[in-house]
Amino acid sequence: MQVLISGAAGFIGSHLVDRLLRDGHTVVGVDNFITGDWGNLAHLSGVKEFALIEMDATANDFVSRMTELGPFDLVLHLASLASPKDYLAYPLETLESGSTATRNMLEIALRYEARFLVTSTSECYGDPLEHPQTETYWGNVNPIGPRSCYDESKRYAEAITMAYHRKHGLRTNIARIFNTYGPRMKLNDGRVVPAFLSQALEGQPLTMYGDGTQTRSFCYVDDLVDGLCRLMMSEEREPVNLGNPQEITLLVFAERIQRMLGTECPLEFHPLPTDDPTRRQPDIAKAKRVLGWAPKVGLEEGLAPTVEYFQGKLAARR
Ligand code: UDP
Repeated sequence: MQVLISGAAGFIGSHLVDRLLRDGHTVVGVDNFITGDWGNLAHLSGVKEFALIEMDATANDFVSRMTELGPFDLVLHLASLASPKDYLAYPLETLESGSTATRNMLEIALRYEARFLVTSTSECYGDPLEHPQTETYWGNVNPIGPRSCYDESKRYAEAITMAYHRKHGLRTNIARIFNTYGPRMKLNDGRVVPAFLSQALEGQPLTMYGDGTQTRSFCYVDDLVDGLCRLMMSEEREPVNLGNPQEITLLVFAERIQRMLGTECPLEFHPLPTDDPTRRQPDIAKAKRVLGWAPKVGLEEGLAPTVEYFQGKLAARR
């Protein structure tokens, strides 16, 4: 297949590009490089099945420019500012990547009657009152809080995707991605996995927001990418949760990292950011049923290559 993917130079996007090329597809990647990194795709220079274009998916001429590069069989919209640190710094760009950019990518899919997939988020559930979160839960989102630029843009992305499916019969898929980690996350990304790992590796205190009793469920990137690949070929039009249901508190997560690295960095407590969800755990019964998918990589197993990656990045920075 000929694939168009936005956010190609990002953390998940670049892993997905690798997988698509391995599977024998031809890929056109596009990224505006606000948070994407050329380095994530440097190993593909000279690969003739891959082209990388620097462009913003919200640009006025985006649809016409990309349409010239078609036809496409598959259009994947991953471009997004996924870290709270980034979307708080770029709230308007975040809203635009969920709205204008999603519409532009849908328009390209429509031109070619291509399949379309958008990566949505567990943030659609906000600070959830239902636990674990199933796809039928409508969420508890603060529509005007600091995280709303991300949450509401993704909820809009889901809404416009369903509208294109209902109005035009487009073959669309919506992935609700839960916390994901692995190599190629940025050192200064701000999310908890790169933050704790880089702090522990540098012998610095771990910055714990709140009292550490909040929970998250961390999925290794290879598992996530496999889930995306299954979803993009499925006939499931409504959202599907993709994440690892193994839920832990941040206190336990910090302990695991310390044990793994053999360090005893102290915890440095900071106030919990506004609207930071207290619990998060995907119910993946639907993904198991419709995609035959479940994550295979446990936390220690996934952290090992991630640590190795960050060690390399920190060494290069010295
Ligand atoms: N967090 C933390 N220290 C950090 C970064 C994040 O304690 O240096 C917390 C954050 O407040 C949240 C959890 O870790 O409760 C996960 O945050 P992250 O930014 O990774 O993703 P989120 O799940 O909030 O989108």
